[in-house]
Amino acid sequence: MQLFETIPALKAFLAAERRKGKSCGFVPTMGALHKGHQALIDKSLKDNDITVCSVYVNPTQFTQQQDLDKYPRKLEQDIALLEETGCQALFCPSDVVMYPEGKENGLHIQFGRLEQVLEGRFRPGHFSGVGLVLSKLFHCVQPERVYFGQKDLQQCSVVKKLIGDLFFDTQFVMVPTVRESSGLAMSSRNERLSPKGKLTASQLYRVLKEIKKGLHEGEAPGPVKQRGLEMLEAVEGLQPEYLEVIRLKDFEPVEQFMPEQATAVCVAAYVEEVRLIDNIMVTG
Ligand code: AMP
Repeated sequence: MQLFETIPALKAFLAAERRKGKSCGFVPTMGALHKGHQALIDKSLKDNDITVCSVYVNPTQFTQQQDLDKYPRKLEQDIALLEETGCQALFCPSDVVMYPEGKENGLHIQFGRLEQVLEGRFRPGHFSGVGLVLSKLFHCVQPERVYFGQKDLQQCSVVKKLIGDLFFDTQFVMVPTVRESSGLAMSSRNERLSPKGKLTASQLYRVLKEIKKGLHEGEAPGPVKQRGLEMLEAVEGLQPEYLEVIRLKDFEPVEQFMPEQATAVCVAAYVEEVRLIDNIMVTG
């Protein structure tokens, strides 16, 4: 695997690969790689001649300095995992490379209503930062396909909008969430949880599955959501932030469940001061 820290070096490598007629898949990450990331890379390796992975903890998408400071950084371990997976290139730029004018002086991309609901509402500015860094990365890599995890479902909608509105010539691919055997969605943030915390956090998926079951059995979204929230509040050490039954089309809450309309349940909660998110598709 080749490692690049600067944009010209990465672009030169990619131009040479393109001249050989190679197609390129791109997996952007913030590192501390786990089996969830690996699933994205595996899918890209299957679909494309070469796969580029990026590891960059993007400061502009963090809404709290403390969260940014505590984000796990494990580049050596990440390199070993990527080598083993068969990834051809890793881009790991510094802040100066990504934000030469300083991170406060960058562009602002806004996503309308998507920034006012769920993750957008509770993490103001988060998607703006995600949109900015991905625009930069997509321009550098110009991949045929990009890979994102269902675990960050609202991010998937944001990225699809980014690609569509800015005419990026790339295909969006969503990969299902990879989970621990307990049901806990794999996440780099799980590294900050104790074994007990992990067990507590695994209750999130249990409640998501319960809500899905309720909806399929004819319970209305309002009462089933209330029941889900009560279940979460009853879990010791877990503080729910939101739980919502949403239409996938625009992430607006649904009042009536219609099986023909793509619907999901999304949750965010704190366990041991770590903010976790998860979701489950109710249709399809
Ligand atoms: P992150 O490094 O957390 O920014 O994640 C990088 C990419 O990996 C994003 O597209 C995430 O949605 C995806 N990802 C993270 N965790 C998982 C998981 N458990 N299953 C599938 N994809 C994931």
